[in-house]
Amino acid sequence: MGGWAIAVRELETDPFFNSGRGSALTAKGTVEMEASIMDGPKRRCGAVSGLTTVKNPVSLARLVMEKSPHSYLAFSGAEDFARQQGVEVVDNEYFITEDNVGMLKLAKEANTILFDYRIPLGLESCSAGVESPLVMNGLPIRVYAPETVGCVVVDSQGRCAAATSTGGLMNKMTGRIGDSPLIGAGTYACNLCGVSCTGEGEAIIRGTLAREVAAVMEYKGLGLQDAVDFVIKERLDDGKAGLIAVSNKGEVAYGFNCMGMFRGCATEDGFMEVEIWE
Ligand code: ASP
Repeated sequence: MGGWAIAVRELETDPFFNSGRGSALTAKGTVEMEASIMDGPKRRCGAVSGLTTVKNPVSLARLVMEKSPHSYLAFSGAEDFARQQGVEVVDNEYFITEDNVGMLKLAKEANTILFDYRIPLGLESCSAGVESPLVMNGLPIRVYAPETVGCVVVDSQGRCAAATSTGGLMNKMTGRIGDSPLIGAGTYACNLCGVSCTGEGEAIIRGTLAREVAAVMEYKGLGLQDAVDFVIKERLDDGKAGLIAVSNKGEVAYGFNCMGMFRGCATEDGFMEVEIWE
């Protein structure tokens, strides 16, 4: 299996992130997961939505790409395909964490749908000096708690790929599909770059964010970081999202216009970095 899918599987298994175990909950308190994957050079892709029992959605997206005649399967059809392919399935309760049950309660009390936890916890209350157990070193750490996960890779021959996996938004309607499984919105890879997005799916879909990075590189001739900066500034509503990207030249770039984005980078020669804030 490609390294990019393995990285996403690891993150899906960690309940800290909004994918697989630890996924954001629907308004009914259930989990509906989605994921997509794209292999740049051949522009092959696979996507899944509405998964309720598949332990690693990204692996099913990969099977859609490799073992089905289609690009995108959803809900009962995707679950049937998972069983045909023999992927690991678990009860829906496996994905539900105590933290997320609490967050759903907060979201319902605030009558809002969350892609992060800013609204109920409030940065304003932090800057106003209100003591909160959720503030560490003066920063509201829970603001960013679970995020969608994604991975972009480029190999020594300049081949790019991308994958994204999510539980979606906390308190979303059942049946809601976000950007993460949509090729061109939350995920895209081609001969030029690989891109994976996180944030408010509706804004990412409106901006066809991932594809725009590739389009700007192709049609405006911009380098990767300039393309990312252009797309974040020109195509994305303020405060809504972010993305990670690699180019066929081995460049790494990211951009976001929300307060922070968990991100990391690792190269073959051992370089590694992890960042959250600007
Ligand atoms: N983009 C995801 C969605 O809207 C949520 C996230 O990135 O946290 O489904």
